[in-house]
Amino acid sequence: MFSGSLYSGGLSELKRLFQEVRDRNYRVIGPKLEDDAIRLGELQSFDEIPYGVSDIQRPGYYRIQMDGGRFRSPLDSPKRLLYPPELTILRITQDWKIEYPEYRFEKTALFGIKPCDLAAIKIMDRVQGELGDEYFLKMRENLLLVVENCVEPGENCFCATMGTGPVASIGFDIAYTRLDDSTVLFQPGSDLGVDILGELNLEPATPDQTDAFKEAILKASEKARAAFRLENLPDMLELNLESKVYQEIAERCLGCANCNMVCPTCFCFDIIDEPELDGSSRRVRIWDGCHSYSYAQVAGGHFRKDLWARYRHWVLHKFVYWLRQFGSFGCVGCGRCITWCPAGIDLREVVFKVVKEVEERCRK
Ligand code: SF4
Ligand code: SF4
Repeated sequence: MFSGSLYSGGLSELKRLFQEVRDRNYRVIGPKLEDDAIRLGELQSFDEIPYGVSDIQRPGYYRIQMDGGRFRSPLDSPKRLLYPPELTILRITQDWKIEYPEYRFEKTALFGIKPCDLAAIKIMDRVQGELGDEYFLKMRENLLLVVENCVEPGENCFCATMGTGPVASIGFDIAYTRLDDSTVLFQPGSDLGVDILGELNLEPATPDQTDAFKEAILKASEKARAAFRLENLPDMLELNLESKVYQEIAERCLGCANCNMVCPTCFCFDIIDEPELDGSSRRVRIWDGCHSYSYAQVAGGHFRKDLWARYRHWVLHKFVYWLRQFGSFGCVGCGRCITWCPAGIDLREVVFKVVKEVEERCRK
């Protein structure tokens, strides 16, 4: 689970780390409080990070509390930055010339993202990256990843089941763990991370601190679990394509595609042309989602008209097809789709019930 070097500090060292990243001319994006939610946004100062604010995330429920607690996945995931919800691809001028927008790609640090979101970025590397999404690749070239390990996962988190958390294992520059109010443990994950942390002159963590870290992560792992297991999961889901669970869910699901939008790995998009009043137009890539009715509407008909079939497709893509397409599950267990579903539909429960039906059938 963990095999790295840990260095010891406190909140003041974490603040110095933030400043060191800023001094290296990174634009820093991290969690901040906005409109009664914790979102990802540009940070000018360390004090904007809402340490001491906790979020309560349950199915279809999100509240924040100023109670000295901790927060988990922000509403936005890194997808919003690396793969924007709306991206102008080209403009057609009034005299029919095609112009391509020039985007500025600044050095950017994602500061304090969670291990599940780091895992989502690694998935995006295999999807957007390998498929050659130029915007994503340019953003990725300049990205510094500073991850906060989770010692108190929320009620909707199941990263431990998905193998993506609560501690980051690879693919980051720096990881840190806020063990308590006075102890922060730091871990470099790349040469750049070693270089940056070197500026802080940290001492190696003591054996007691290392033990406390391991214990905290173990406890967090026990909490961040779903009732289903990954073992044979794709086969179990494929054995129950006609499950009545999908029909039941469709009675509650609104087809709003909120789950697709907040998901850090969902990547579907549409291309639309937006005419402007001056006679020019923009060709825009916008996020789309498999739950929405229009998603599967094509010339000549609709290939997934029923809501239950669209919900089923979402589950099967995340836990079956994604493995075949990209070599990993398409879910990192961040719980966002559960929190932000207006109907409070819990993906963990759906998967568990579909699998349980197969198990019961096999027992008969
Ligand atoms: S967020 Fe909930 S209601 Fe909306 S499409 Fe997803 S599962 Fe259905
Ligand atoms: S499917 Fe839900 S829990 Fe899984 S990565 Fe997407 S939003 Fe997170």
